[in-house]
Amino acid sequence: HAKQQGGERACFHTEQLSVDAAEKLHRHQALERAVQREEFEVYYQPQVQLPAGNVVGVEALLRWPQPGGQVLLPGAFIPLAEQTRLIIPLGAWVLRQACLQLNRWRDRGRLDWTVAVNVSAQQWMAPGFLAQVDEALQTSELPPECLILELTESHLVGDPGTAQRVLAALRDRSVKVSLDDFGMGYSNLNQLVRLAFGQLKLDRSFVASIGSDERYAALVRHMIDLARELGASVVGEGVETQHERDLLTGWGCDFAQGFLFGRPVPAAQLDASL
Ligand code: C2E
Ligand code: MG
Ligand code: MG
Ligand code: MG
Repeated sequence: HAKQQGGERACFHTEQLSVDAAEKLHRHQALERAVQREEFEVYYQPQVQLPAGNVVGVEALLRWPQPGGQVLLPGAFIPLAEQTRLIIPLGAWVLRQACLQLNRWRDRGRLDWTVAVNVSAQQWMAPGFLAQVDEALQTSELPPECLILELTESHLVGDPGTAQRVLAALRDRSVKVSLDDFGMGYSNLNQLVRLAFGQLKLDRSFVASIGSDERYAALVRHMIDLARELGASVVGEGVETQHERDLLTGWGCDFAQGFLFGRPVPAAQLDASL
């Protein structure tokens, strides 16, 4: 009897696996089609300068609108895009769109704005990455110093040599590099110093606790000091309350981004709200 049960379970398990595999293949094909057809949309979230609160740029955040009107967030498809390397063409598309959009804003007088674009490790570690950047800048005719690329700490651990080379090449082009989700990775402080980022972004999870937890307040205060001493500007991410804004301002945080100032929205909607 026990043997029979085991057999049934094994059989069920195998079927389940093939169902999962089929599901994944289906999702892969849908994503591939969407990349080919450019069915994505780039949303933009304002970034403001502290203490004044004037908009100084935007972060480009990818969205995948669905036929039913639902809009998928990056968490629902970026991991698959990374696994399948579709992030390489998809990331190139975002980069180009974001540069083109900032140039439209520049044509309408937003000459001091920057655009920050998130870049996956699979994307910037691929041999064609710098060509992608050059292509986006040339197509859009955007001055390179208006472009900020956001990398995450976890990206840098795997291949420090490549990271160093790519960062140096970006610096040669005057493209800025920002360390996203600062404090969330496996902080290699040695690399933090050596790679000389122009900007550090405090992760939302830190900012969310500064108003209620003294220890997080101390941590963030010191993270800001550290950034400044390293010559980097600091962005507080996920600022939702006036209290959080006031604390960050008092500690010398340069820029802020969060629902308090504006949610990520399509470019036209950002125009309408400003
Ligand atoms: P991230 O780069 O750290 O982006 C910040 C995330 O926090 C965004 O989520 C944004 O919508 C959200 N956020 C901003 N302000 C607030 C706030 O005040 N409160 C709350 N609760 N959330 C806030 P989103 O758009 O879902 O993006 C998630 C992540 O997906 C991004 O994190 C980034 O790592 C990745 N991502 C987004 N677009 C791209 C892209 O084009 N390429 C790549 N490779 N990754 C992307
Ligand atoms: Mg980011
Ligand atoms: Mg971030
Ligand atoms: Mg984050």
